[in-house]
Amino acid sequence: MKFSKIYFKLISSFALILLFGTMVNIAAKPSIKKNPFGKTADGKAAEIYTLTNSKGTEAKITNYGAIVVSLRVADRNGKFDDVVLGYDTLDGYLKDTAYFGGIVGRYANRIAKGKFSLNGKEYTLVVNNGENHLHGGTKNFETMIWKAKSSIVKDGASLELNYFSKDGEEGYPGNLKVKVIYTLTENNELKIDYSATTDKDTVINLTNHSYFNLAGAGSGTILNHLMQINADRFTPTDSGSIPTGELRNVKSTPFDFSAPTAIGARIEQADEQLKLGSGYDHNYILNKNGQLLTLAAKVYEQSSGREMEVFTTEPAMQFYSGNFLNGIKGKNGKIYQKRDAFCLETEHYPDSPNQPEFPTTVLKPNQKYSQTTIYKFTVR
Ligand code: BGC
Repeated sequence: MKFSKIYFKLISSFALILLFGTMVNIAAKPSIKKNPFGKTADGKAAEIYTLTNSKGTEAKITNYGAIVVSLRVADRNGKFDDVVLGYDTLDGYLKDTAYFGGIVGRYANRIAKGKFSLNGKEYTLVVNNGENHLHGGTKNFETMIWKAKSSIVKDGASLELNYFSKDGEEGYPGNLKVKVIYTLTENNELKIDYSATTDKDTVINLTNHSYFNLAGAGSGTILNHLMQINADRFTPTDSGSIPTGELRNVKSTPFDFSAPTAIGARIEQADEQLKLGSGYDHNYILNKNGQLLTLAAKVYEQSSGREMEVFTTEPAMQFYSGNFLNGIKGKNGKIYQKRDAFCLETEHYPDSPNQPEFPTTVLKPNQKYSQTTIYKFTVR
C-alpha cells in the first residue's frame, strides 16, 4: 500500500471517529425542544416542550395546565414506552374531565361542600364533585396557560412554569403566584419543585395528577402492578370521599400496602371503604420524619420490569386506582377503561381547611409554600 493511501485511510478513520464521537456526544446530552400545541378556546397559544436526558428518557410537557402529556421510559430490554395516560392533541385536554397529567389546584382533592372559614370569614368555592369542591374547581390550574421558561440545569433538562391566580379565582382569597419546575434528571427522575406566595391568607394544596400504567398507557389493567406504600395509616371517608376525621391503621385491612402487593389482590373484597371509593381512592398518611424528601411509594410491573419510586416532602398521598375511567379515547386511539391506570397524588390531607386536627394548608403573606416530589424510574 502506498504511503499516501495509508495516510488517507488514517485521516478518514480519524474523521469518522471524531464524527461518531460528536454524534454520541450530541445524543448523550440532555435537551429541550419547543413546539406549538394549538390554541385554547379564547385564542391563547399553547406550547409543548420535549425534555430528554442522555439515556433517551423523554417527557413532553405543555404549558397548558402544566400537563405531562407523555413520559417515555425504557423497559428491562431497553424498549421505550409512554407510561402516562393522555391525549394526542390540545383539543383532548380542553375537553378532559379526568385531570390527565396536570397540576391541580389551588386545592387538590376535596373541600367539603365547597366551603371553609379562614380568620372568621366563610369562603364559598365552586362545587364540581357532587356537593363538594374537587381539584380547585372547574377553572382550576390545569386549565390555564402558564408562562414557560426552559433551560439545561445541573440536574438535567428543566421547564419552569409560572401561573398567577387572582384573588377570588374559583372563590379562593388572595393573589397567588405559583411556580412549578419540572426537571428530567440524568437519573431517570421526573422531579417536580412547587412553590407559591400569596398577598392574603389563603389555603393551598398542589399536586400532579398523572395517571400511570408502567406496562404502557392503554395496555390494559393495572391490577397486576405490585404496589408498596410507605404509610401505616389512611383517612377513611364518607360517601362523598371526604375524610371522616379518623386516622385508621392499615393493618389487617385491604389498605395495607406496607409490603409489595398486587393492586387487584383485595380490591373486590367486601370492605366498606373500598365500596365507598369504588376501589382505592384514599389519602395515605406517609410515614415521615419531618419535612424531608422520603419514599412514599414503589410500584413494580413484572412484564416490562419497570419500577417507579415516588419521593416527596408532602405529608400524604392519594392513591387512586382509576375507578372512574370509563372508555376515554386517549393517545394513538387507545381506549382507557376502569383500572387501566393509577394516580399517586402527593399532597396534604383532603378537606384540611375544615379539619383543624389535620396538618395546616394555610399560606400567609410572609410564608412560602414549597414541596418537591420525584417520580423515579428503574428496571429489574
Ligand atoms: C380523585 C378521584 C377522581 C379523580 C379524577 C382523584 O384525585 O380522588 O375521586 O375521580 O381524581 O378527578
